[in-house]
Amino acid sequence: MWHRVVPEKLNMNMKTNNILRSLLLTLPIITATLPVAAVDAPKPDKLTTCPVSGEKLGEMGKPHVFVYKGQEVQLCCKDCKGKFDKDPAPYIRKIEAASKAKK
Ligand SMILES: [Zn+2]
Repeated sequence: MWHRVVPEKLNMNMKTNNILRSLLLTLPIITATLPVAAVDAPKPDKLTTCPVSGEKLGEMGKPHVFVYKGQEVQLCCKDCKGKFDKDPAPYIRKIEAASKAKK
């Protein structure tokens, strides 16, 4: 009775083994590409004004956009970037407050 069952079972095991093996072979590729895909996009700056000068963004030409510690920062001009770099914390707080308020 078990004569018919055992070869089938073995066959099944062989098949699953092959599947497992191909999975194991592709797994390193998946895990190798994952960190690149999983890199967090910067948190968007939801302020419509420059946190440094308070000017409306875009009124003085293209906003100066950059990423600071994973947070997108939009300033009205490059001059404000200088002020931002001297003391980023209060401006980052403004941006974070704005993104929390608009959730
Ligand atoms: Zn400015």
